[in-house]
Amino acid sequence: MGSDEDFVQAALGAGFDVLGFADHAPWPFANGFVSPIRMPMSDFQGYVQSVTELRHRYAGQIDIRLGLESEYFPRYRDHMLRLRDAGVSYFILGAHYNDSEEANPYIGPECQTDEGVLRYADAAVAAMRTGLFCYIAHPDLFMRHRRDDEFSKACEQATDMICQAAREMHMPIEYNLLGLDTQLRGFSRGYPSQPFWEYAKKYDNTVILGVDAHEPRHLADVNLWETGKRNVEAMGYRLIDHLELEE
Ligand SMILES: [Zn+2]
Repeated sequence: MGSDEDFVQAALGAGFDVLGFADHAPWPFANGFVSPIRMPMSDFQGYVQSVTELRHRYAGQIDIRLGLESEYFPRYRDHMLRLRDAGVSYFILGAHYNDSEEANPYIGPECQTDEGVLRYADAAVAAMRTGLFCYIAHPDLFMRHRRDDEFSKACEQATDMICQAAREMHMPIEYNLLGLDTQLRGFSRGYPSQPFWEYAKKYDNTVILGVDAHEPRHLADVNLWETGKRNVEAMGYRLIDHLELEE
């Protein structure tokens, strides 16, 4: 889906000052389990090297950051701290699985039940409260396989839990542009979920746009983030355009 450098070129072309790489975090799963959505542990060193090299090569043109989009799996907490020690400067919370992936299905279909929605919210809030994450990606992931008119009482409760925690932790919530891209193309991923964003408004969270670039073209799509920005601002949210990260 494009080399790391292709992403840098796309970001430069679109006028970004800072580009954060945040591939899905690798985990040392038990019993040789292999995840379909992330690099194996053996690729991690190469990822660090590749992003670090680009960071140096493009210094002065664009500020490149090494991050990961990651769940919080309590059973592997030490592993996460080791990734940080290995040079990962920020983690974005993407709560795709409950603890842990080898024992649980993808959260999307799970959240077709109200119990699943509340389990997702519990896991997301526990993760947020660790202080290990800079923001929560697609907080409305529980709407992945729900229509707008299936935003139930449990969905309201999950939104309350997540947005309240985000406020307390001073964490932005992400308006996901990969999801918006699918909506504009007519095959919605369920998020960004209009009922979520309308219901969440009362918490007045700070919002960040996440490109969630699975391909370089997502970064180059200026129209996409301008549409996202318009949508978020039209609802009255405060949008931030960069994160304060430590060097
Ligand atoms: Zn994600």
